[in-house]
Amino acid sequence: RAKREGRDRTVHYSPALEEAAVRRVRTEAMLRSALDAGRMQVLYQPVVDLASGEVVGVEALARVLDPEQGPLSPLVFIEVAEETGLVTRMDEWVLGRASGLAQRWRPPASGAPTAIALPETGTAPVAGPRHALPTVAVNMSSRTLSRPDLALLVRGALQKSGSDPSRLLVEITEHSLLDQGEHARRTLDGLTDLGVGVGIDDFGTGWSALSYLSALELAFMKVDRAFVSRLGLDTSATAVVQAVIDLAHAHHLTVIAEGIETEQQARMLVEMGCDHGQGYWFGRPTPEADLDAVVGSWHERARAARFGAWSTA
Ligand code: C2E
Ligand code: MG
Ligand code: MG
Ligand code: MG
Repeated sequence: RAKREGRDRTVHYSPALEEAAVRRVRTEAMLRSALDAGRMQVLYQPVVDLASGEVVGVEALARVLDPEQGPLSPLVFIEVAEETGLVTRMDEWVLGRASGLAQRWRPPASGAPTAIALPETGTAPVAGPRHALPTVAVNMSSRTLSRPDLALLVRGALQKSGSDPSRLLVEITEHSLLDQGEHARRTLDGLTDLGVGVGIDDFGTGWSALSYLSALELAFMKVDRAFVSRLGLDTSATAVVQAVIDLAHAHHLTVIAEGIETEQQARMLVEMGCDHGQGYWFGRPTPEADLDAVVGSWHERARAARFGAWSTA
């Protein structure tokens, strides 16, 4: 072990460091081979209009299929994927699949009684009962956002699938916005010019620089699960959620709450005027083949709970 500590080495050998390095190399190799071999999957999670209970879209969530460990969430490899740039290949692949889904998928009929009149929030709806076609949201990493050809890439994917640009939403984190500065601004303009809706994911987890909300042409904002999960338990989390909803509406953005796991959270968010929601209570991320069944099962539960349009039935 001591032999490794040559004079030219600036980092002292430690088993933990070596272990971390080995893990990175393995993760990179795993990711590269999965991308090369197409061992990838996209799961789709329903997004629900909270006032009506209707499914208005889905979020596309990538999985890498590792032969040994099974489907892996980007959470476990995102750092390596970012550093190696492999994340741009993943994002591009998801974009292609998601555009295809946007073109062909329609949620099964809910059977809900005539949709209740929605309160006028004055926000530009990202999708809603009055906009019958569902949206598909994709997540884009900071590396993908930095691609000078991003708008071209998105346009190409939309053309190839024959999907309308207004069906596609792009989610970026505050962090990558701030990372990219003026460049992000130009890239986002390119996307909104195509007619694609761009929004901020995980709002509240970064150093929210509120100035960008007026500077950028955004369509929506997602309240992070960290706040949603504490709704009703913690008065400060509840106040943050209300503040984010009001802030979004003041900028004419649609607000989407993520990570809704209970009926109580969903009902509180309706009361608070939140537009859309997603979470395990509505439906888990699921392969395309099972998506209609997941949405159907949500409709059953909505009817039983008299949620949304069923509340007046
Ligand atoms: P995100 O975009 O904030 O996605 C929401 C995450 O919350 C997803 O985790 C989803 O499965 C999970 N989730 C949804 N509802 C609930 C709930 O009720 N409770 C709990 N506990 N979790 C819920 P997932 O699929 O593991 O993805 C994690 C993150 O990985 C995403 O967070 C996103 O940042 C990133 N990601 C996923 N797909 C892609 C992709 O195609 N490209 C890039 N660049 N990043 C991706
Ligand atoms: Mg997201
Ligand atoms: Mg999120
Ligand atoms: Mg999140």
